[in-house]
Order: sequence, then structure tokens, then C-alpha cells
Amino acid sequence: MASAKIISFETHDVRFPTSLTGDGTDAMNTDCDYSSAYVTLYTSSSLVGHGMTFTIGRGNEIVCQAIKAVASRLVGCDTEELFADMGAAWEHLLADSQLRWIGPEKGVIHIATGAVNNALWDMYARARGKPLWKLVVDMSPEELVSATAFRYISDALTREEALAMLKAKEAEKKEREAKVKEIGYPAYITSAGWLGYDDEKVARLTKDAVAAGFSHFKMKVGSDLAADLRRGKIIRSIIDDPQYLPRTASGQSGHVTEGRNAGPTGAVLMVDANQVWDVPQAIEYVKGLKDIKPWFIEEPTAPDDILGHAAIRTALKPYGIGVATGEHAHNRMIFKQLLQAQAIDVCQIDACRLAGVSEVLSVLLMAAKFGVPVCPHAGGVGLCEYTIHLSLIDYIAISGSMERNVLEFATHLHEHFLYPCSITAQGRYNVPMNPAEGYSIEMHRSSISEYEYPDGSYWVKSRGMNFFNMYGSNMKRRKRGQDQHSTFNIHSSPDYMKPAQRRLVVHMRIACTADKSINSFVKSNIADSCP
Ligand SMILES: [Mg+2]
Repeated sequence: MASAKIISFETHDVRFPTSLTGDGTDAMNTDCDYSSAYVTLYTSSSLVGHGMTFTIGRGNEIVCQAIKAVASRLVGCDTEELFADMGAAWEHLLADSQLRWIGPEKGVIHIATGAVNNALWDMYARARGKPLWKLVVDMSPEELVSATAFRYISDALTREEALAMLKAKEAEKKEREAKVKEIGYPAYITSAGWLGYDDEKVARLTKDAVAAGFSHFKMKVGSDLAADLRRGKIIRSIIDDPQYLPRTASGQSGHVTEGRNAGPTGAVLMVDANQVWDVPQAIEYVKGLKDIKPWFIEEPTAPDDILGHAAIRTALKPYGIGVATGEHAHNRMIFKQLLQAQAIDVCQIDACRLAGVSEVLSVLLMAAKFGVPVCPHAGGVGLCEYTIHLSLIDYIAISGSMERNVLEFATHLHEHFLYPCSITAQGRYNVPMNPAEGYSIEMHRSSISEYEYPDGSYWVKSRGMNFFNMYGSNMKRRKRGQDQHSTFNIHSSPDYMKPAQRRLVVHMRIACTADKSINSFVKSNIADSCP
């Protein structure tokens, strides 16, 4: 493969207005605008690499700044030299001592490193003409271990142990690859259970999810026990009722349901509190949910509280309710301790909170050693696209098991990606097969143009609509004889606006003075001025 040098990069702060519909809402995150801090690495050839990390809106611009600091470490590097030792490439990204100080290996700088490391892996997969999962499962055990981030985990897993584990699984890799291509990878759905949805929407979306073949469902909890029980009973009344099962249902698609509080149809419910409770609160609250029979409580308390999770797990064991966490576990050392402390039943890696594929590999290997299934977090833009690759690597090359696993699926925003993930009629992920798709995270340029913040066409138009709404209410008050001297608040913050918008406000003020009708003003000014 001809070598090339990484010569430049660009970042984009892309935000989708999901807070308008309540998508993504839970007890902690009440107004999510699903966002992508997106990076593209360019080389001296036509080879590129795309990566991103996920945030929920404000602060995405800070992550983009951190991505610039991390990505600049790759400029001038030879691509083939990087690909030849991805473990060393990962170490290089983290080796700036001044940037390390603002972590280390946590927070903004770490999720920014995740975006860049993922972009490098995307580039590597594209260079070899394989989807990312295929690139990794085709590696020899030695190559895979060499690509893994091993620093600080050797007390739980040594390179030699990892090598032995991978060699033990090597002979059946082809068989497992063929199987998962045929039947797909097990999935569960979160999209019916966001906290911001009313009961009617929860019921409707649950029926849709059952009809789509899903057998595992997750609901957000933690704001109000009575409301959680009511919503949980609505969901259970649908998923446990055979009348809603699709005609094509074939058992439960090979899922293991033992020990999961499955209902009569084999359906499983999980609940997710997104960190809202102290440890004793978590124990008491979740005991109160026992009637809706959850398999596990996800993120019951602070994500860094390893011993707290262990205490919750011990206390809930008699109730048959497990503990899951990981989407906010910020590095492999947190996972190491969660596993060592026997604090979790399910390990929920996040593809870009961990610092990219190399660090994910270390957690997949540790989880396999400790016998804990990995069910990645994917409730966010781009995460489903990323995580199917990671679950395939786990199944084919590392743990050798998918029967105990379920990968999260959320229905939102896949249309913005060139290679969106997809689901079978049995509610399982299809295997990404396009040799050009790399890590499947490349976003349509049109989506970036529309949703880039603050100057993408959607956001400019949105601000125009805000001006219209403010103007409309202002004029109504004036017509009622109220608030004769009211002005536009936005006008006192001119830095917020682009020059064209400042001109628009001036026009609006003139219109107020001339007392034109709202309709004629809108026709003559706003419609023309706002794209
Ligand atoms: Mg969660």
C-alpha cells in the first residue's frame, strides 16, 4: 500500500435539535440536542479518515477545540507507519504532556482523543478496503494485542493473557463471522422509553418496536416512581402480550433470556436512571420497580463510583435485578475496577467516551476475561453506526459469544450518515459490508451544512423564526395597547447575530414604528431575509 502523510484536518460542530421532540430525554439530561464533534483527517493522497465524538449540545464547540489540539499531533505522520502499530499511534495521541494535564485520560480532552483515534482507525480500514470490524477480526492475535491500549491494566490483564485468549478463539472466527452475517447481531431498543414522551407515545412506539421484531426494551426512570411504574406497566402490558408479536417472530431470535426477568413472550425490560441517585436512594427506588421486572438498572449512581455500584448490585441481587453501567466510564481503568469489584452484570462501553478503538479493545478483552457481557451504549447520534463494528469484533474475535449480548439501537438521525446502520425484520443489526465504509461514521456534507452550529442553514433559519415569534408577540401586545415601548431583547446582544440578522432587526424596528401589519411585514422582510 502506497504511503501518504497526514497533512491537515477539519472539525465541525454539528448539532441536531432533538430537544424539540424530547428524543434522548432522561432523568438527568432533560434537553438533549444530539451533537457531533466531527473531524476529518486529510492526507497527501485521496485517503481520508472521519471520526466524531458525541455530546448533547452546549459545549460541543469546546470539544471541537480540543480535537484540533489532539489532531495536530498527527499532521506530518506517515499513514503506513501509524497503521503498522496502532497501539503506538494511540500512545502518541496521548503523549503531549501539556494536554495530558487537562485530563489525564478523562473529560473533554479524552473524548476529543476518541474522535481522532476513531478517525485514524476509519482511515486505516478505508486504506485496506474493509469495514472496520473486518479489518480488526482479520488481524492476527499478535496484531490485535499490539493495537490495544494496555497501559495501567496489566494487574487485571496482561498482554500474554490477552494473546492466549485470542488464540483460543481464533479457529472458529470464520464460522462466527458467517453466522452473524446470516442472522445479524442482537439488539435492543431505547426509542420508546425516553422520559419526555407521554403515555400514548410510549405505548405507540412500544407496539411499533414489538412489530419490528425487538424483544428487549429500555425505559428511562428516576424522576417519579409512580410515573415510572405507570409507564413500565404500559410497556410490559404490550411486550408481554402475544397479540402484538409480529407474524415473522421466530422464538426470540436466539437471545438468552434466562436470569433477565423475561415475561411470557420472552420479552425483557431494562431501566436506566442516568446517574440521578445516591447509593441508598438507588437501592430503595429500584426495589420499588420490582413489579415491572427489570433485567438491570443502568447507571444508578455516579459513573465514577465503583464501590457504590458494587453495593447496589449486592443489595439488588435478592430481587433478581442486575446493574449495568459504562456509557460515562471515562477510561479503561474505571472498567478495570468495575470488573475487579464485581460491580456490574453488563459492561456498556461507549465508542467515543473511551479514547477510540484502541482503548475499546482493552475493555473488550478485560470484560471477556471477567466473563461479563458487553452491551455497548448507542443512544446518541452516530453511536449505533460505530458500535455495531465493536460488537462484531467482540463476538468474532474476542468473547466468541453474542447470545448473552444486546446492542442498543435508537431510531434517530441515521439518515445523516453515508453508511447508516440497519436492522433486520427480527430486530437484529445487519453486518456492515461496504468495503468503502470504514468505521461507518462519514456524515453527508449536506447534513453538516444544514446542522453546523451556529451558521448552518437550519440554525440560521431557527433564529429567524425566533425573531418572527418575538416580533409577532410584540405586535400583538402593541395592538392590545400593552407594552408600547417594548423592544427586542435580542437587539441588545448584537454579537450573537450575523450582519444580515442585525439588518433584519433594524428592519423590524422600522416596521414597528410604521405600524405595518404583521402579515405584510413578514412577506416583505422575514421571508426574504431568512433562508
Ligand atoms: Mg444510558
